[in-house]
Amino acid sequence: MIKYMILDVDGTLTDKNRLISTGAIDAMRAGIKNNLKISLISGNVIPVMFGLKTFLGINGAVFGENGGIVLQEDRIIPFFDKTQSFKFLNRMEKEVNIKPMFTNIWRETSAAFLLNGADPEYIMSEAIKDDLYIVNSKFTWHIMNKGQDKAYAVNYIKSEYKLMDSEIMVVGDSDNDNSMFELDVVKACPDNATEYIKSKSDFVSDKSYGLEIIDIMKYYNIL
Ligand code: CA
Repeated sequence: MIKYMILDVDGTLTDKNRLISTGAIDAMRAGIKNNLKISLISGNVIPVMFGLKTFLGINGAVFGENGGIVLQEDRIIPFFDKTQSFKFLNRMEKEVNIKPMFTNIWRETSAAFLLNGADPEYIMSEAIKDDLYIVNSKFTWHIMNKGQDKAYAVNYIKSEYKLMDSEIMVVGDSDNDNSMFELDVVKACPDNATEYIKSKSDFVSDKSYGLEIIDIMKYYNIL
């Protein structure tokens, strides 16, 4: 039985323009009414995740920076440090044409940028030399510490709430979700997910951009 759902935000609860699906909001509220716990996990920053948690009525912990930091019961806990990521960002800014994200002022464990015509392959290979790695959330590129990914966050929830793999379900759509789709938890995705995410999913909805949430909940008897 699914007790805990961990949901990606962009492209999973939202459309391509990042507008949130009202259908997804209704589905999450109905699930919570049925005692489901929900966490959100995104590459976005904790102040944004706090806003989403507050205004959507999310009842579980919310994770920012792809799992690098959590807001859990009025406590913000960073799991990683931002020093190396920002050092690397500053170096790359001088070497290639990238545009740092304005949201970096709120980042505690990573740095983000937009490719302004820069070659991502070069940035990725340089990051590895500094023990960092680059992940693309489709909307932004993120400079992350080794081991900092969404799987880290899922494992954190698992141990905090003493859950079994079969009680946790993750939903995501793109590359920065890959790590949690390699875990033994239950995995589901929308039709707009990448082929890799689909290949790893236990259930692939034929609905997209937030409308899959109700479909997934019905399939797993949550609603
Ligand atoms: Ca996404």
